[in-house]
Amino acid sequence: MDNKKIKTRLRSFAEQHLEISGAGRFHHHFALYQCPNCEAHPLRAVVERHAGDRPKDFEGILWTDCPACRSEQMALGVTPKGKKGEPPISVDRPACACGNDTFYLGSLDQFEKPSTFVKGTVVAMCTECDALLPLVDTDG
Ligand SMILES: [Zn+2]
Ligand SMILES: [Zn+2]
Repeated sequence: MDNKKIKTRLRSFAEQHLEISGAGRFHHHFALYQCPNCEAHPLRAVVERHAGDRPKDFEGILWTDCPACRSEQMALGVTPKGKKGEPPISVDRPACACGNDTFYLGSLDQFEKPSTFVKGTVVAMCTECDALLPLVDTDG
């Protein structure tokens, strides 16, 4: 599957997941994650949840690591100021139902014009079987 197709699949899944209908007063930004070192798109994820994390209101850090070059990066960090050093309450490496844990990842964020963050999501597509799953949801 080429990058354009991957982006389209991930983005439409994220739009359904966030229940986005029409544009109206909102605008949206979608990004396909890539390795900062080798620019590969298949990545593995680690979801680190911190105290205060709730469904639809992620608190913690989403890390990605690249199976090709082993680079790690903090893809998303939602931590209250001064709490960064707190130990996570759970650390989870998401895997697909097929057993594979390498995904194409993308984030969709919704803004109220001009630039107030409303909500967002990070979604994943399995590189083996194309299954789609949401990873974390954030709330403004
Ligand atoms: Zn890499
Ligand atoms: Zn799979």
